[in-house]
Amino acid sequence: MVLTSWGRSSGFCCDPIEKKPLNHYLPGTSILSFGTAGCNLACKYCQNWDISKAKRTDALAAEATPDDIAASAIAHDCRSVAFTYNDPVVFLEYAVDTARACRAADLRTVAVTAGYMCKEPREEFFKSIDAANVDLKAFTERFYWKLCGGHLAPVKETLQYLAHETDVWLEITTLLIPGENDSPGEIDALSAWVAEALGPHVPLHLTAFHGAWKMLDYPDTPLETLREARKIALENGLRYVYTGNISDPHGQTTYCSGCGLAVICRDGYQITGWELDDKGRCGACATACPGVFEREPGQFSHRPLPLDTTLH
Ligand code: SF4
Repeated sequence: MVLTSWGRSSGFCCDPIEKKPLNHYLPGTSILSFGTAGCNLACKYCQNWDISKAKRTDALAAEATPDDIAASAIAHDCRSVAFTYNDPVVFLEYAVDTARACRAADLRTVAVTAGYMCKEPREEFFKSIDAANVDLKAFTERFYWKLCGGHLAPVKETLQYLAHETDVWLEITTLLIPGENDSPGEIDALSAWVAEALGPHVPLHLTAFHGAWKMLDYPDTPLETLREARKIALENGLRYVYTGNISDPHGQTTYCSGCGLAVICRDGYQITGWELDDKGRCGACATACPGVFEREPGQFSHRPLPLDTTLH
């Protein structure tokens, strides 16, 4: 088998790392993001359906070698490179080669993935990755099969592998779709499993659905649903639960698990408050905030910047 998309992308963009979303990994920094075409799942609500459903290579307008990508990330003041937009497992060889070039250039690598992969590629892929946001799309086999054409069990295996057998920094995203995966019972089961099987320190992002592709007739997720889901997850012991894709500064603030101080405040993708010391500990009680932090937050201050379609 040959990866025909190697060296070709559907586009490059500089994003704030909070958009991946990662809230505990180099907050405020810029990340060079790209994807290719196609996907190994078939989510009926895919926001990136134009590239994830592309069967031909028409969507692959941009070209870049791994070294070009690393050089461009540095030129655009990015601290890391993200494999995103479609699932990186379908361009694993290109992603791994790019990750090696990034590490040689002192850049970090981030995977945004559904985690739907077999054991061997899972290990090969994550050896080259520094941080990941993995979708836990729902907590029922019905949802995974009916809306995504996949299964839940391999995703749980990936999450457990990342949490217990690697040093990859892990955060999780669950997009709440009205009537499909947003019942209090399902949120309760999902968050209890994350707390027990992965650990209470793993951040969980509960994000708002907006209609896309074959699910345009579904309503947007109400803010109240997200807040109620966040409350349930916190009651189950998770320490860092965020709302996303919606304006909710309280739900997007990082609170110290020791004393409750707001240690990182956010307004959209902007960092508006920072109370961590130079070792990532709470400025009031010195409880460590899990994640990877620098002395100060990054200064991403502009809207996402589309780059030239060809990087070299
Ligand atoms: S896994 Fe992500 S990119 Fe792939 S079809 Fe589902 S939502 Fe789209």
